[in-house]
Amino acid sequence: MTTSDHPGHAPSGTDVVLEARGVTKHFPLRRTARDLVARRRRSVHAVDDVSLRLRRGTVTALVGESGSGKSTVARLLAQLHPLTSGEIRLGGEPAVAGRGRSFRRYVRRVQLIFQDPFASLNPVHTVRYHLTRALKIHGRAGSGETELEQNLADLLNRVQLTPPQQFLDKFPHELSGGQRQRVAIARALGADPQVLLADEPVSMLDVSIRLGVLNLLRDLKERLHLAILYITHDIASARYFADTTLVMYAGRIVEGGDSERVTQHPAHPYTQLLIASAPDPDRVVAEEDQEETGTGEPPSLITPPAGCRFHPRCPKAMERCRTEPPPRFDLSDGQWAACWLYDGAAANGTEPVADPATAKEATR
Ligand code: SF4
Repeated sequence: MTTSDHPGHAPSGTDVVLEARGVTKHFPLRRTARDLVARRRRSVHAVDDVSLRLRRGTVTALVGESGSGKSTVARLLAQLHPLTSGEIRLGGEPAVAGRGRSFRRYVRRVQLIFQDPFASLNPVHTVRYHLTRALKIHGRAGSGETELEQNLADLLNRVQLTPPQQFLDKFPHELSGGQRQRVAIARALGADPQVLLADEPVSMLDVSIRLGVLNLLRDLKERLHLAILYITHDIASARYFADTTLVMYAGRIVEGGDSERVTQHPAHPYTQLLIASAPDPDRVVAEEDQEETGTGEPPSLITPPAGCRFHPRCPKAMERCRTEPPPRFDLSDGQWAACWLYDGAAANGTEPVADPATAKEATR
């Protein structure tokens, strides 16, 4: 059975805050002399037919290599770019943020945290300025100086920058990378959002402080019941931090499910490649298995491969993979994969395969 007829892998529920349905984004390229001669218009197929749901009190990880389109998904959900097609729904209603007040209303509920805490804070302004501005923009500054001071202190306490008075009048260059990212998170919380879109929030931080920032986000998820989208190239951190993991390759989501399940029993050959590439001193991969995980570079998104986009790198590619894009196939425990290996009935003359491990055996 496929799940291509419904967005995401989990059933609909009232706890869904933000949803993408068949979201597609193609960026048109400037036409060259060759394009004019060939009478063609080319575009970058950054995101194709992406569907996902973000639920209150949960973290969803979106994992993939650089250039897979995961940051574009975050920007589309933040309504920083118009969609080529598809729909974004906030609180069950179609959401088109537009500009001005309607955009402000949207960002009050959906906040984006950028990867680079060094660039996201203005170096000439203090922490107090950044947080006060956020509170004022979103109408949460309070009615007087005392209330404003209290709200500023609350924000810094929430991100564990304590005592607040020690940080309020500092400039960004006086803070460590981890402290800056905490200020950026506090600024996002100034809107009192329901959703945080965290685009590689720890990738530019020293390894030693990454865990602290991830723990802070997890604490906020639980205390404030936030829906968090965690964009990362590090599938190991997704297992640690996220409830659900979605894997993205060349503009499409290729696998999804419970994080423990996806990282411990990856079904899609691309997910298997990601996991095999992640440094893990405890894992010794046999040479034969290393070859099986696949190699090579991601494809061009201007002319993406036909059929399954992973087929030029996939050691298990079959003839149909080169021409037919695979739909999503349900596996066990809510896991799914967009891969013809799991079309058991058609590929192997058997019933659809229910478990990735079984499927691996069935295709050998
Ligand atoms: Fe490999 Fe085919 Fe599955 Fe794509 S659909 S991952 S090419 S086996």
